Amino acid sequence: MRHSLSSLSGLIAAAALEAALLSAGCGRGGTCVSVEGDVWHTAYHVKYVGAESLRDSLAGVFEEVDAALSVFNAGSEISRVNRNDTSVRAGRMMREVFGDALRVSGKSGGAFDPTVGPLVDLWGFGRRGTARALVSQSAVDSVLPAVGMRECRIDREGRVIKKSLSTEFDFSAIAKGYACDEAARMLERNGVTSYLIEIGGEIVGAGLNPEGRPWRVMVENPLSPPDSVGASGLGVVEVRDKALATSGRSRRQRKADGRTLSHIINPLTGYPEVSSVLSATVLAPRCMTADAFATACMAMHPDSALAMLEREPEVEGLIVLADSTGFSLRVLTTSGFRLLAG
Ligand code: ADP
Ligand code: MG
Repeated sequence: MRHSLSSLSGLIAAAALEAALLSAGCGRGGTCVSVEGDVWHTAYHVKYVGAESLRDSLAGVFEEVDAALSVFNAGSEISRVNRNDTSVRAGRMMREVFGDALRVSGKSGGAFDPTVGPLVDLWGFGRRGTARALVSQSAVDSVLPAVGMRECRIDREGRVIKKSLSTEFDFSAIAKGYACDEAARMLERNGVTSYLIEIGGEIVGAGLNPEGRPWRVMVENPLSPPDSVGASGLGVVEVRDKALATSGRSRRQRKADGRTLSHIINPLTGYPEVSSVLSATVLAPRCMTADAFATACMAMHPDSALAMLEREPEVEGLIVLADSTGFSLRVLTTSGFRLLAG
């Protein structure tokens, strides 16, 4: 384990903290390790049955994902593609995420589209600009022609072919899920087979917890976010050898000029989505897929979103809607979604 703290008291404090996390996070039985921290402006929590601290390996995974896919990193592969740097050849991570994003884009009829970047910026949810409620139709029209994942591809040489030179990719809606998948791969390479990985609400679970039961995860109630006092969830899901991702309105929506704006943009209209869907929680074999489908649901009519998930053989989902009063919830699930009492 690497310590950035130099004083002895610092080392003792760090050791005490780690010990507290081990007992708090992992329950009784087995040897369990818990690693927590911050990445991409959100918290991550990793627990696994094992003895070795893999904190540095985890940091290595995050760095690698960042160097490939982060639009907030000017030197990343994706940022260079966005700047039309023709020397870029897509690496493994870019190929995997690009491929899955293209697939979910197709399955969602274009509702999920990582080329919404310029629209995200235009509405002030991205790296540039501040949130606004009023954007002119002509501004939207000038950006829309660059949007269209399904007209982009990676050629045999690994060059990313964009719809137009102004097309920009923004993999924010899938990258955290992908990082969970990559963290899982790293744990497996190190012989770990029972683990629960969570990055900002996106989750991968494998094997059994130290008590010999499947890892259990609470599905958030979008009307009472987890940091609110007395928050309670909608129910519990067992996550065994699969992934769970949630996209929600409550955490990221903003007020601008007196209106509430969603951070999900409808790529077909160019406007922030105003639908009754408050959150979507999706189970899938891989977390990047769950993450992409969850975001897709937020930009779709709830019935079409549910039908899309139902068509996928290994995907289940739960969609939370506001009723007409806006104060109570309606929960829709695919036929195979098992929600247990908390
Ligand atoms: P969170 O980051 O809160 O977990 P999501 O996984 O749903 O939420 O990702 C939301 C991000 O995806 C937005 O901040 C934006 O950058 C991007 N985005 C917005 N609309 C779309 C869309 N229709 N398709 C793909 N990505 C989108
Ligand atoms: Mg997502």
